[in-house]
Amino acid sequence: MHNSIIKPLSLTKLTSFLDRELKLAEFPGDESANGLQIEGKGSVRKVGIAVDACDYVFHAAAERGIDLLIVHHGLIWGGIRSIRGVMKKRIKTLLDADISLYACHLPLDWHPAYGNNIRLLKVLSIRRIGEFGEYHGKKIGYWGRLANSLSLKQFTSLVERELDTKATVIGFGRKVKNIGVVSGGGWSAIYDAEKLGIDTLLVGEPAHSAFTLAEEMRVNLVFAGHYATETLGVRAVGDMLQKKFGLPTEFIDHPTGL
Ligand SMILES: [Zn+2]
Repeated sequence: MHNSIIKPLSLTKLTSFLDRELKLAEFPGDESANGLQIEGKGSVRKVGIAVDACDYVFHAAAERGIDLLIVHHGLIWGGIRSIRGVMKKRIKTLLDADISLYACHLPLDWHPAYGNNIRLLKVLSIRRIGEFGEYHGKKIGYWGRLANSLSLKQFTSLVERELDTKATVIGFGRKVKNIGVVSGGGWSAIYDAEKLGIDTLLVGEPAHSAFTLAEEMRVNLVFAGHYATETLGVRAVGDMLQKKFGLPTEFIDHPTGL
């Protein structure tokens, strides 16, 4: 019933709107081929949102009748050299179901409205002060301040509750007040964090080499998980599409726990 009253949108119009709105042109050097990666049917009635392009998500999208799937980590990184094995299977699942795949990687970490990092500040009630964390020639992270300082333990509980995750924490006794946030594998922002006097860096995926740097720079490190720090951006895009075009959108959750 509900579906019949929704006016389908042209795929071309919708994806060119997304290219502009998500400011893909800001990151010409992104390894991810951002934008429409796989072309499915020409009109869109339902949008799916997910973090990772993979067969589980593609099958779930097909079952839910999704026409356009928007992901943070797409299928095409630095060009296609062959379509076989896992790649063949994934692309076949999409083509068989006539689903389009749209990827938005670095622009969706950085984006000042929909980005993972600005959204992380928001859910953790960190007041934004500025950008930081240079990556591919652009500052993709944000840093800001808590209204009241917290112990590292309190801050970690807040992160775990808000992001529904289990964090890995490295700390050397400093209180948490000035926080830098870089989603995914962004721990190398620790150099910029130290310069800015940031006491705590919240990132996604743990890295062994970060330990001794954090120890010597005396910066707390909270690794909240690559997946858990990167669901907010795609969700924000889904909410925006629902609001602006009345398109039903569904989030397909497939947590990696990493
Ligand atoms: Zn990522």
